[in-house]
Amino acid sequence: MIDFNLSADERLSLFQSTIRDLENMYANPESRRVSPQLDHQEVLDFVYQHDFARGIDYHVAIRHTLEGLQNHTVHTSHPGYYGLFNPRSNFAGILADLITASVNPQMAAWSHAPFAAEVENRIVKEFGLKFGYPEDRIDGVFGAGGAEANLTAVLCAINHHFEDFAQNGMRGLSQQPLIYCSSEAHHSVARAARVVGLGASAVRSIPADQRLKMNTVKLVDQIEEDLRNGYYPFMVIATAGTTGAGTIDDLEEIGQIAKKYHIWYHVDAAYGGACVLHSEFARLLQGIENSDSITFDLHKWLSVPMAASLLITSQPQVLHKTFGIETEYMPKEAMQMRIVDPYTHSIQWSRRFIGLKIYLSLLFYGFQGYHEIIGNQVDIANQLRYKLKQNDWVILNDTALPVICFSDSTRKDDDFVRRICARILSSGNAWISVYPIHGQQSLRACITNYMTNSNHLDILVDELNQARVNESV
Ligand SMILES: *Cc1c(COP(=O)(O)O)cnc(C)c1O
Repeated sequence: MIDFNLSADERLSLFQSTIRDLENMYANPESRRVSPQLDHQEVLDFVYQHDFARGIDYHVAIRHTLEGLQNHTVHTSHPGYYGLFNPRSNFAGILADLITASVNPQMAAWSHAPFAAEVENRIVKEFGLKFGYPEDRIDGVFGAGGAEANLTAVLCAINHHFEDFAQNGMRGLSQQPLIYCSSEAHHSVARAARVVGLGASAVRSIPADQRLKMNTVKLVDQIEEDLRNGYYPFMVIATAGTTGAGTIDDLEEIGQIAKKYHIWYHVDAAYGGACVLHSEFARLLQGIENSDSITFDLHKWLSVPMAASLLITSQPQVLHKTFGIETEYMPKEAMQMRIVDPYTHSIQWSRRFIGLKIYLSLLFYGFQGYHEIIGNQVDIANQLRYKLKQNDWVILNDTALPVICFSDSTRKDDDFVRRICARILSSGNAWISVYPIHGQQSLRACITNYMTNSNHLDILVDELNQARVNESV
């Protein structure tokens, strides 16, 4: 019979060689292309190279896996990756995932993982305080990403507003509930409405203004009109750091509107929430303290490996109301203690120890370390804005966050922009994307990697200039 544990010698040898290889990859992210040249058949051939009938040599298996990942992955660890908030994993986070996988604490019941559960409780509390919630009202739950956190928020809001929703669901409602967010909001909001059973038409997409913030005059007009027509507005979602252009909605004003109309106020701060760790940029989030809930991704600006998000709420009863459930078979050892079993507060049941990645990151780098690295990334973005303008590119978005949407000063058609983007990707030296600003495509570069420095910016700008020249001939 095969030994699932392997022998001690085999384990050590595999640990050592794998760690050497990983260290080599981690230390030399620039030795590869940022993104692969896509060839579906080549990937398939590689994945199907070994059959599963019997196991293969362990070292061969590991080498195969690392080779596949090296050759067929967009490397967000590369400082030329200016992408969609996917960071280079910080080292503390990598160690945390290794430890988590080895110990495998089960996060469903508190009594199975008291240390892990209290680590997560502490992180929820620390971030709740940073966001300005009163200490005695902070609750929250870890999840696999912003989409799960936003879905959790929609579920909380609807259970908060409709007393017997947990029992009777949509059929018990006499009015159509409505969610409000801006046209720049993340599409996980619309999908959350679908998953919950509200349907995508329950989401009112409020137009963005010239600066790409939610137009609050139109928000109020829409709420008033919907009330007159017998609808039930129950949730408004502001975005703090939009995915496309990094815009922060007017959190203060939207909070006041939510309060006036007795609507659940959620802030999707999946990306921009990190500003709360910077002494100066924290004020960009002013008003977030008045929210009922916040989505905050740890696997974006805080650079922990996927998948890690927080849903934090200032309505301490709502998670239990939404997810609480009694079972016969779950462990009850801690029944006499004043604790919460995590599974009674979350969509997930069995769950991995997500919180260790951020706990260990904070033990390694501290809030001070995050303050510095966030400030640095904003500086680098400002350098990139400057270099772009010097080279006749125009900046099309307006944000303090390190997200830059830009275009050529003369050629602006969508095709041109897409072709420039394709040329950058095929160079292998950088990864950028396109995003429409007021209906017109732009090039989008975000400083997502904490290693990106001014030399990398020069490479990017050179590639852009070269691509523009090649487009013109
Ligand atoms: C990335 C993002 C999400 C989705 O988060 P995932 O971690 O990808 O699930 C939601 N909202 C905003 C604003 C985002 O930027």
